[in-house]
Amino acid sequence: MTVPTHFPYGITILEITYIVASVLFVIGLKMLSHPLTARKGNILAAFGMGFAIIATILFHRKDGEPIGNIPLILAAIAIGTVIGWVIAKKVRMTAMPQLVSFFNGMGGAAAALISMMEFPHVSPELIARSGMANGHVLAILLGLMIGTVSWSGSMIAFGKLDGRIGDLRVKSMKYVNITILIVLLGFIVYIMTRDVSESRELMPFIYIMFGISVIYGVLFVMPIGGADMPVVISLLNSFTGVAAAMGGFLYNNQVMLTGGILVGSAGTILTILMCRAMNRSLLNVIVGVFGGGGSAAATEAGTIKEITLSDAAILLSYSKKVVIVPGYGLAVAQAQHICHELDKLLDEKGVEVRYAIHPVAGRMPGHMNVLLAEADVPYEQLVESDEINPDLPNTDVLIVIGANDVVNPAAEDDPSSPIFGMPIIKARDARNIIVMKRGMGKGYAAIENMLFYNEKTRMLFGDAKNTLQNLVSEIKNL
Ligand code: NDP
Repeated sequence: MTVPTHFPYGITILEITYIVASVLFVIGLKMLSHPLTARKGNILAAFGMGFAIIATILFHRKDGEPIGNIPLILAAIAIGTVIGWVIAKKVRMTAMPQLVSFFNGMGGAAAALISMMEFPHVSPELIARSGMANGHVLAILLGLMIGTVSWSGSMIAFGKLDGRIGDLRVKSMKYVNITILIVLLGFIVYIMTRDVSESRELMPFIYIMFGISVIYGVLFVMPIGGADMPVVISLLNSFTGVAAAMGGFLYNNQVMLTGGILVGSAGTILTILMCRAMNRSLLNVIVGVFGGGGSAAATEAGTIKEITLSDAAILLSYSKKVVIVPGYGLAVAQAQHICHELDKLLDEKGVEVRYAIHPVAGRMPGHMNVLLAEADVPYEQLVESDEINPDLPNTDVLIVIGANDVVNPAAEDDPSSPIFGMPIIKARDARNIIVMKRGMGKGYAAIENMLFYNEKTRMLFGDAKNTLQNLVSEIKNL
């Protein structure tokens, strides 16, 4: 049976499908920018992608011939779908960032493989047909380099987020990375100036380029530690988008191009925002240079003071203004619902409660917004850190729930700290500070936090969910 591929007037069904899919991507992306619509946006964009894949299988024609190897393609899709489904179903909410990193790496690897597969097919006839002259080879080489860097870098990021790989900081790393980048660009120039009819003979250069790109991806992510991972994650994300867009150029496939450009540009915007949030420069990110090398001295720490549940309940109930600083520990404890119960309870008592949201709190961009939206905390209650900071001196109680690095004064006080220069929530400005955490464990940056030793700070030890449950009962019994 032959499948019709054209509408009247020569418009192909595939073209129309790609336009619809692209529109769904754009609407989906727009909806992702707000927690209340993000879930629907995700489904819409995924639907657009599914639609584009099915249409490509059914309606794509090369020299008038339909796509071949359909059983193989369907088998690959089925295997990928099952693996993706099972992993996504099983993953703990707190392991989500690692998963995103891993999936992002797979996108980069796919783009790199496309380049390796396509390069030996480059010929003068193909170049003439593509109408892109040197652009065709450039798209292949950039897809290879960027896709590979994204893959190897994402695998290192995965290992770091999962706690399997530590930081490796060597002073001269910056120069090594710059040199590798120059070598890679040299390869691109060399290959592009060779005769394309020799593409098969040039394959060894492609394999060497692949190897060097793997090394670059590893070296540029290895030194990144402390609190700087979010910037790298969003940068790697944009790399994968750009690499996929290169595939779109190669195959003259509009939907791949649009998808790649959307991911690439969204990732780039996020990287710029993260750089601003962390007070870092983009150039330093690309050559793998971050923060200071040392860590805050634990020796000066001093003594900590604890608070009982009943004292905390009284202090909170008789306050006028309370600010909650949620962090990674809130996500680990899955304490978002009980936290919202606490804020509603205080609200009934006439206490104004707001949440201070730091851009890198948790383990993925927007982590706290997603978590609190899941618990139906009204969006208006969430306030960005730079907006809430000036009001903290008028805040009666600031409760830190499972946060650490984002309230660490070392970012302002200690030039040798790896988080130095990162804007923080200025918790120490509040009149009283209650810190809820299990013990004296460190945060992601693995450094001491002098806030816990501040004379205004009282520690409330325990798992965040249990502590909040007990605190809520205590306040109800007052
Ligand atoms: P941190 O990782 O700095 O600190 C989390 C704290 O939570 C720990 O000190 C831990 O202390 C406590 N904790 C852990 N489990 C529980 C629990 N069940 N109940 C109560 N407390 C708990 O978190 P922040 O949110 O302050 O900072 C995020 C960090 O992660 C930053 O350094 C950021 O750069 C980094 N990062 C962020 C990414 C992002 O995109 N948002 C991505 C990658 C990294 P204890 O063990 O004593 O309980």
